[in-house]
Amino acid sequence: MNRIRCLVFNAALGPLDYRVPEGIDVEPGSVVVVPLGPRQIIGVVWEAERLPATEVPAHKLRPILQVLPVPPLPTPLRRMIEWCADYYVAPLAAVARMALSSNAALQGGGKVTEYRLTGRENGRMTPQRIQALDLLNGQQGTIRELGEVAGVSEAVLRGMVQHDLLESVQVDSDRPYPEPDPHFVEHALAGAQQIAADRMVDAVLARRFQPFLLDGVTGSGKTETYFEAVAAALESGGQVLVLLPEIALTQSFLKRFESRFGTEPVTWHSSLKSSERRRAWRQVAWGKAKVVVGARSALFLPFPKLGLIVVDEAHEISFKQDDGVRYNARDVAVMRGHFENVPVVLASATPALESLQMAESGRYERLILPDRFGGASLPEIQIVDLREQQPERGHWIAPPLVTALKERLQKGEQSLLFLNRRGYAPLTLCRHCGFRFQCPNCSAWLVEHRLSRRLACHHCGHEVATPERCPECGEPDCLVACGPGVERIAEEVAQIMPEARVALVTSDTLTSPAKAAEFVEMAANKAIDVIVGTQLVTKGYHFPDLTLVGVIDADMGLEGGDLRAAERTYQQIAQVAGRAGRAEKPGEVLIQTRHPEAAVIAALASGDRDAFYAAETEARREAGAPPFGRWAAIIVSSEDEAEAKEAARAIGGTRPNLPDVMILGPAPAPLSLLRGRHRYRLLVNARRTSEVQRVIREWLDQLRFPPGVRVAVDIDPYSFV
Ligand SMILES: [Zn+2]
Ligand SMILES: [Zn+2]
Repeated sequence: MNRIRCLVFNAALGPLDYRVPEGIDVEPGSVVVVPLGPRQIIGVVWEAERLPATEVPAHKLRPILQVLPVPPLPTPLRRMIEWCADYYVAPLAAVARMALSSNAALQGGGKVTEYRLTGRENGRMTPQRIQALDLLNGQQGTIRELGEVAGVSEAVLRGMVQHDLLESVQVDSDRPYPEPDPHFVEHALAGAQQIAADRMVDAVLARRFQPFLLDGVTGSGKTETYFEAVAAALESGGQVLVLLPEIALTQSFLKRFESRFGTEPVTWHSSLKSSERRRAWRQVAWGKAKVVVGARSALFLPFPKLGLIVVDEAHEISFKQDDGVRYNARDVAVMRGHFENVPVVLASATPALESLQMAESGRYERLILPDRFGGASLPEIQIVDLREQQPERGHWIAPPLVTALKERLQKGEQSLLFLNRRGYAPLTLCRHCGFRFQCPNCSAWLVEHRLSRRLACHHCGHEVATPERCPECGEPDCLVACGPGVERIAEEVAQIMPEARVALVTSDTLTSPAKAAEFVEMAANKAIDVIVGTQLVTKGYHFPDLTLVGVIDADMGLEGGDLRAAERTYQQIAQVAGRAGRAEKPGEVLIQTRHPEAAVIAALASGDRDAFYAAETEARREAGAPPFGRWAAIIVSSEDEAEAKEAARAIGGTRPNLPDVMILGPAPAPLSLLRGRHRYRLLVNARRTSEVQRVIREWLDQLRFPPGVRVAVDIDPYSFV
């Protein structure tokens, strides 16, 4: 082959053809450096017949410059990239780029110089050096990485090298990871677990595509069960990918994995240092990293020998990416399994309705684990009707929950209070003039964070110090907090039970895997009496002495027009309830609500999951909503409000008129201003069978927009803001 077609990473360009000079070997999937005008850019060689482009005469072709020292992207991965681009109406290059997620890895292996503390203390101890000595304990990395960890400049660290406080170490960036041992410690499985494990193991050994829905109540031992399939894949020489929704909180998973397989798996997530990224990417690409546990982006790693994919907590909405290429990792995982011809396990105690429907229709095989493992029973659930059992004025914990909390404290057992709202209060206003603190970049209120004394926007990250005076009327000490956040609930617990040891668990407090590990250890060692947390505490944790769960506001998730609101509320509360009574001691759950009659609350109270799903399924069928119909959103945005409105109007004005496609809008988005951009939305509702992607692509392709306008397509949207 001396003429190749190349997918280049430049949004404005289509595929380009190049000439391959004598003596250079390339094949589809090869990662190459090619000239583009005076510049050099990276591209991937692609099958020309799958990638139409304008033919360039042979004498005009420029030669490729270099083949990068990495294996070609495997064929099944390339097919998945094509599928993603097509299904999610995204540029092929943007999807392919997600597979080349470490620039350093593409440049090859070799030695890297890293630094670590020498343990000596020489020279002048400036405050920065003291800070670095403290924060770099146990760390090793390049100067740049250590600078980020320690929060000091690179010059400070270079000074520390000169004064013998830091020493250099030569590290091979291609050093292999320890290999997990499928026979390290084999666990005995209970009846239903064994049956489920056997089905998955069979599919792994047969190397056939088979999606499984591993459906088991919280505490039923889903992880141990799918570990058998992981062991089978390892034994037959395959690689395994496990996706988890919150990678910062995988400490307990890593420990369980280590105790079963003798070593931790390779991790992949956005906060890896670039040297760790390079090592992981390269080891995956050569088939040497055997088990990778990662966030959704791990789906695009170039595994050459994938034998199994597991999506744990598969119902979680964090598998949905809401910027750039808007994809749902749960669905893409199934497609990767399809192209790789390997089984895919979706594990959950509260499966997404879409997944249940696939099981119902026979496309997924449903494996049910009906009981809690080790004889623990499911917790008893009680409803606290807030209209009758009112909390004290300015408080949020109703009398029955107060009583239950006090009982647990006396018995030395643990409680967990759940409220899915970070910070102290969701709205702050001036008592004197009524001024409300709003984000300048978004149509959203600023949330008070009392611990860090700041007002913050949870959409764009804008922050200001909490002012002493009202910025509008100048009155001092006049700010009123409205409504509760977890910080305020923690404060209330401290008032009710001053002797209780309270831990606050949110993304503001568990900012690193180390902090998460510290929390888990304290809770396991009974150094905490009451945990107050957001959705971070709803999954994965297993604390034997936790016997009470209190849901502060079960109605919160039902507000707003999200089509999955009821399902999400059900999942969240069922998951957090599942934290109670996971060992011998029985658990109790109190759910505070103003709407005990709502179907979702009634289903939680009676523990009748099937009834809830049946009712919800009917409602969706009626509304033509997923999984019975299709939704797609078109989001138009610009920093200039008139420009955004004009573009939205142009899209609305050229809407296709089709019998099975309904198009709503354009209308200002509920968050009409986000990160400084004005936003309009259109919603497309179509029949299951219609080719909604093709309709949208053809519709938008005929329009041209000013450079400041962004038009994003969201297929199967989760967020309706
Ligand atoms: Zn004021
Ligand atoms: Zn904002």
